[in-house]
Amino acid sequence: MSQKKLLFTPGPLSTSLTVKEAMLRDMGSRDDEFVNAVKQIRSELLTLAHVTKEDGYETVLVQGSGTFGVESVISSVVGKNDHLLILANGAYGDRIAKMAGIHQLNHQVVRFAEDEIVTAAATRELLNAHPEITHVACIHSETTTGLFNPIAEIGAVCRQFGKVFIVDAMSSFGGVEMNMKAMEIDFLVSSSNKCIEGVPGFAFAICKKSELEKAKGQARSLSLDLYEQWAGLEGNGQFRFTPPTLSLMAFRQAMQELKEEGGIAAREKRYKENKAVLDEGMSALGFKQYLRPEIQGHIISSFLYPEDPAFNFERFYELLNDRGFIIYPGKLGKANAFRIGNIGQIFPDDVRALVVAIDEVLKAEKVGTVVA
Ligand SMILES: *Cc1c(COP(=O)(O)O)cnc(C)c1O
Repeated sequence: MSQKKLLFTPGPLSTSLTVKEAMLRDMGSRDDEFVNAVKQIRSELLTLAHVTKEDGYETVLVQGSGTFGVESVISSVVGKNDHLLILANGAYGDRIAKMAGIHQLNHQVVRFAEDEIVTAAATRELLNAHPEITHVACIHSETTTGLFNPIAEIGAVCRQFGKVFIVDAMSSFGGVEMNMKAMEIDFLVSSSNKCIEGVPGFAFAICKKSELEKAKGQARSLSLDLYEQWAGLEGNGQFRFTPPTLSLMAFRQAMQELKEEGGIAAREKRYKENKAVLDEGMSALGFKQYLRPEIQGHIISSFLYPEDPAFNFERFYELLNDRGFIIYPGKLGKANAFRIGNIGQIFPDDVRALVVAIDEVLKAEKVGTVVA
């Protein structure tokens, strides 16, 4: 087998051996064991979001990557006469805007600088000025930069104005404690291969049932019909179309391992330790971060390229890859940066090893890291 690689990316992430081993048995999609696993996963996701069925919340699993889950929600819950406000400050907010355009939803996009958060005050102003808005969409951890938008504060404003609040919590759910009800979130979307540390294969939407029911008959696509997907799962416990069986078995194992680690609080603590080790190590090497620390989350960080013309990101990436470390390119509008994730089956010692490798690569390439 080829060399083990550690993924310092926003997903897919490094997973445990036992999560991978959970995929070694073929599983029929109508097998009782599988149907029960799906039921258990849907129920435990509610628990992770601190809500219950009795409270009026439901989990819908959607085949595909995270984007499929977001698109399922966006294209199903915003009705013909509704109006969606998209609060965007990065590539993932823009992606929702693109979906709204393709599905021809009534919508408006308000873009904030990618190094600034969306504020509750700005949301309030927009909702005051545009009474036609019925739904608001925002990203929690904007993976473009790594900033955290203040979702609880924005949610409180949405509640006050009676708007439906849709949150892409893809890269944060499972790595950040989130009480969906307290944060006034009506639809929260994440996926199998982010902080729960499963493998790619499906997305999930945790939904306020009273809002989910309104989506009946208004989807713009068959396969991404959120309401029908839910109705299928509630009806006979099965997916409407071929489910990612092995990914679901891996996810069930990943949820068990999350519990054994001590739940989301313990995982959040580990990710924060990873980040602290990374911050200290990178700063000692002379790297500067793109975001100011007050808005920087602990999921992923953006580091500015060194000013030295000897720095070449492709070379840097390849040489780290050769050493078994996968980092992530940047996607920024106004600065050259690369990203390093703190999430997945990586531990402070792995981060220390990464920092050592970065130091070696810079020395080998004779790059000075003093940034202006
Ligand atoms: C990873 C991610 C997504 C989904 O991306 P996929 O490539 O479709 O899995 C969506 N939003 C955010 C914020 C993400 O980090």
